[in-house]
Amino acid sequence: MELTIQTSNPYQILIQRGCLDHLGLQACALFRENSRAMIITDSNIGPLYAQRAADSLEKAGFMPEIFTFPAGEESKRLSTIEQIYTAMAELKMTRTDFIVALGGGVTGDMAGFAAATFLRGIGFIQIPTSLLAQIDSSVGGKTGVDLPQGKNLVGAFHQPRLVLIDPDTLSTLPTRFFSDGMAEAIKYGCIKSRPLFELIRDNDMAKDPKMLERMICECVDWKRRVVEDDEFDTGERMLLNFGHTLGHALEKHYDFGKLTHGEAVGIGMVKISRAGEALGLTKPGTAEEIAAVLRQYRLPTADSAPAENLAKAAAMDKKGMGGTLNLILLREIGHSFVHPIPKQELLSIIKEREEHA
Ligand code: NAD
Ligand code: ZN
Repeated sequence: MELTIQTSNPYQILIQRGCLDHLGLQACALFRENSRAMIITDSNIGPLYAQRAADSLEKAGFMPEIFTFPAGEESKRLSTIEQIYTAMAELKMTRTDFIVALGGGVTGDMAGFAAATFLRGIGFIQIPTSLLAQIDSSVGGKTGVDLPQGKNLVGAFHQPRLVLIDPDTLSTLPTRFFSDGMAEAIKYGCIKSRPLFELIRDNDMAKDPKMLERMICECVDWKRRVVEDDEFDTGERMLLNFGHTLGHALEKHYDFGKLTHGEAVGIGMVKISRAGEALGLTKPGTAEEIAAVLRQYRLPTADSAPAENLAKAAAMDKKGMGGTLNLILLREIGHSFVHPIPKQELLSIIKEREEHA
């Protein structure tokens, strides 16, 4: 499937099994022959796929190089970006050269940020290889790195010139990361589409590559629509934060150790939906329906972290402006809305939920 996303710089998103090998051909339409291409990848993905990407580029007349960094969120920092700049400067890369981000969200965010800033911006191609990156982080142009003070505190909006999604690369993705991405897929169903939610519920995405490809297409299409409506994240794009206010709070509470992002978001979706039900804003039974699908994909649905700690962590989250917190709630599965509350009310809202649980 091929989609075009109409952002300030429109680009194609190609979703097709095996399309990693079409990288060179696809790049021909976007970049000059003989351009240098810096493939940025991590130490897990590089050995599996970087040579294939390089071969494809070379066959199409480009000059590829591979930059590999140690896998993991700890690498998503400015010191790695500096190493990337150094490697590119030593190769005397110019503004007509380009970057290829080959990997998960960590790779995409970092390679994208390097592309946004090197020589004040050069082109880049996203080849997401984790489920989370394929359905979420590779589309939309948010790039950046972490600081010791918090995640994603430095960054830029920089849209890729092309996104190549090859679902076959997921065959090597460790199970826990697959489940992690499934939480975000379930989120799209919750906020936008009951049919997508049911597709996920009624099939086993880990065992059915055809259904998985269909699911990826639908998720990406939803992300595309939301980003087109709100490229710079000032309104509609907020809906993508469903489950994330409490999810981020949980991640922080455990110092990013106990729960993966998807696991925390899953718990957050259940908790906030219980709260919505208690407030009479969410259709009764919704939280349980979400929990059942999460369990199907081996994701946790509850956590014993004290509500006080979560409310405190959520209040400090950079996304809450001033004294208001924009909660994302569901009317029912497939319909979401923004529900602004004064920050100090969050605690009583999630506590009420606990009493009703
Ligand atoms: P990740 O890039 O660290 O990948 C997860 C793990 O899976 C890593 O160990 C990686 O090496 C491995 N891996 C990935 N693909 C593989 C494959 N095909 N085969 C074998 N191993 C593979 O993390 P992630 O979960 O993909 O992404 C998380 C990051 O994405 C976070 O830093 C988050 O802030 C960011 N993010 C960004 C956006 C955005 O809009 N830019 C949105 C959501 C998340
Ligand atoms: Zn997320």
